Amino acid sequence: GHTAGPNPSPRIVMMGLRRGGKSSICQVMFHNMQPLDTLYIESTTAPTTSVFSSFIDFAVMELPGQINFTEAMIDAERIFSTCGALIYVIDSQDEYINSLANLHSIILHAVNANPNINIEVFIHKVDGLSEDFRLDAQRDITQRVTDELLDDGLVNVSISFHLTSIFDHSIYEAFSRVVQKLIPQLATLENLLNVLCQHSGIDKAFLFDIGSKIFVATDSSPMDIPTYEICTDFIDITVDMNNLYAVDRRPKTATRTDANTITGRADSSSNGVKPIPQGRPIGSTSRLSNGVILYLQQMVKGLALVCLMRKESMPKIALVEYNIEFFRDALEQLWLIG
Ligand code: GDP
Repeated sequence: GHTAGPNPSPRIVMMGLRRGGKSSICQVMFHNMQPLDTLYIESTTAPTTSVFSSFIDFAVMELPGQINFTEAMIDAERIFSTCGALIYVIDSQDEYINSLANLHSIILHAVNANPNINIEVFIHKVDGLSEDFRLDAQRDITQRVTDELLDDGLVNVSISFHLTSIFDHSIYEAFSRVVQKLIPQLATLENLLNVLCQHSGIDKAFLFDIGSKIFVATDSSPMDIPTYEICTDFIDITVDMNNLYAVDRRPKTATRTDANTITGRADSSSNGVKPIPQGRPIGSTSRLSNGVILYLQQMVKGLALVCLMRKESMPKIALVEYNIEFFRDALEQLWLIG
């Protein structure tokens, strides 16, 4: 059954001042909108909730966090008490003093309602800043926020800062880090990936959520952004190829018949999410001009294993696939007991 999950509903709430980029982030991450098209979306004025039901059930709530927000905060505190992370979006291209004041009072409410909440600050729209400016902004914002918390005597707040932009992969990486902190089985997943790599001649392995391209875990070998980008592009290509000859492109109402295969996301028909492969798990293999082999296999719960191998591993592909079967079984076990 699909009730077996890591956590009933780890939730992520997203807040920030108007025009900070919240809607854009959600559209790009979860609805496959092209970054430039976000110029035309309407700004958040009322609290909106979008639920993304994939391997980890989470909701992204956008609350238009204005300075005057006492009333909204009463609702928000209830939400904070049941969520794992609060993402706060700061527009780095704008004067951010107002944002910092807003963020500060939100943190006080959030921590009051839920001392274990992870505060994740997205220093956003950094595509418009030079490399130096980015680091300056990060240093300045980190300093101001942590100083204020110290003044309040709050020393145990879990707070992280991420430089993000919807025009590159930084937003996916930041989101991945946020989600990873909410997965209790992360260490086990990383161990499983390490073992898989060691025994199968795989150089790098990622476990991705196909729908959002958030990576849930990777093995402990070093990771670089180009590798990550290749993998996310490969997911897109594989999903597109798979949908090419799909009989019915529009997903039917989500029905899960088998824990083995994902059969659609809860709300995929209404929000323009790419149709996630129905029924038979997707997979593909490709050889790049530099000899690197890309290998993708869908696992459980909308997750895909994406591996990079050298061409020397190709003759042993049967062994690799055999090991991957074990890996898949281990994942299933993990979510059954989770
Ligand atoms: P919201 O009110 O917080 O939901 O903000 P919106 O999502 O409506 O975004 C406001 C504006 O910021 C839009 O014109 C977006 O195109 C722009 N925007 C969002 N993200 C980025 C980004 O990463 N870089 C740049 N340069 N602009 C962005």
